[in-house]
Amino acid sequence: SSWWSNVEPAPKDPILGVTEAYLADPSPHKVNVGVGAYRDDNGKPVVLECVREAERRIAGNLNMEYLPMGGSIKMIEESLKLAYGEDSEFIKDKRIAAVQSLSGTGACRLFADFQKRFLPDSQIYIPLPTWANHHNIWRDARVPQQTFRYYHPESRGLDFASLMEDFKNAPNGSFFLLHACAHNPTGVDPSEEQWREISHLFKVKNHFPFFDMAYQGFASGDPERDAKAIRIFLEDGHLIGCAQSYAKNMGLYGQRVGCLSLLCEDEMQAVAVKSQLQQIARPMYSNPPLHGAHIVSIILSDPDLKSLWLKEVKVMADRIIGMRKALRENLEKLGSPLSWEHITNQIGMFCYSGMTPDQVDRLTNEFHIYMTRNGRISMAGVTTGNVAYLANAIHEVTK
Ligand code: PLP
Repeated sequence: SSWWSNVEPAPKDPILGVTEAYLADPSPHKVNVGVGAYRDDNGKPVVLECVREAERRIAGNLNMEYLPMGGSIKMIEESLKLAYGEDSEFIKDKRIAAVQSLSGTGACRLFADFQKRFLPDSQIYIPLPTWANHHNIWRDARVPQQTFRYYHPESRGLDFASLMEDFKNAPNGSFFLLHACAHNPTGVDPSEEQWREISHLFKVKNHFPFFDMAYQGFASGDPERDAKAIRIFLEDGHLIGCAQSYAKNMGLYGQRVGCLSLLCEDEMQAVAVKSQLQQIARPMYSNPPLHGAHIVSIILSDPDLKSLWLKEVKVMADRIIGMRKALRENLEKLGSPLSWEHITNQIGMFCYSGMTPDQVDRLTNEFHIYMTRNGRISMAGVTTGNVAYLANAIHEVTK
């Protein structure tokens, strides 16, 4: 026997398993609506033109030195403007502790570790359902988890009454994970008015809001609009936390570039908090990677490249919104007696279709359509070329 004879294989990731099965299927009709990355109307991965241009400017011009422990100062500065607003008083007053993170996942994990270190008795409330990795992140950081109700299966929309009830019933000063926009996996977001009510209740209860913002700009096509929830909380005087990612909105998936920020009471507190965040990062990875951070700071600090990015992020969002419309119209045209309104009401990369695991199995086995068994359709995998085929198959298994 060896040192590792007691190591069993880890359970397969349900999302990666879908792609494996898709790749192994020889059918020419096969469709992958399990992917968590944007695809163009031909089903191909996309590199944004603003990213290509930033790379051209980098080529041959930059050294490969380490970034500071907290990451690229410029990238952080631009990220804070995006999340907190171009003219945010909190940025001017240097009240935000922020570090470059290993994309959105790394930002969440760094925060979870920070929470454990400085508030060891605290818990985290996570929406039900949520991106599965949230559970893993806070579990590995050893922060106990609670859930709050979020999704209403019958209406395939927000269960606002239950969510407010759960916020009310949580002990004062609880920590909550909120998706800033384009909730994954449901595509269901609170309205602006509902966010205002949530923010108000958080004030009364003295809850802490931690925003995971993995899709800023990707939801509506406008990063300002997608930051609305955060801005409402800021207006109301909350000290928020925020995880940002450039995976989706700049298509920088594999570059692992993001930002973790915590709004503090004053500059002195922000300096202390930032130094402790760096302290947590140091023994894990020392300092974050360079290339993606350069790309982001070049794009966001150059007015021409930034406006090109804004155009390109809107093209991605609009394609997805267009495919939602097409999928719904195709289902209605087929005479489906079910309501498919939620396809267009939901927002962002995913559509929580309401299909059962058995119906999903039929889609896969009979129609070569691949997705997770919770009925989550990645709208990024839907194209002009496959939307009618997909609608027909959904109609067949749900009628
Ligand atoms: N948070 C949510 C809700 C997500 O859906 C994702 C990606 O799927 C992430 C965070 C993190 O992604 P990344 O680490 O690639 O930025």
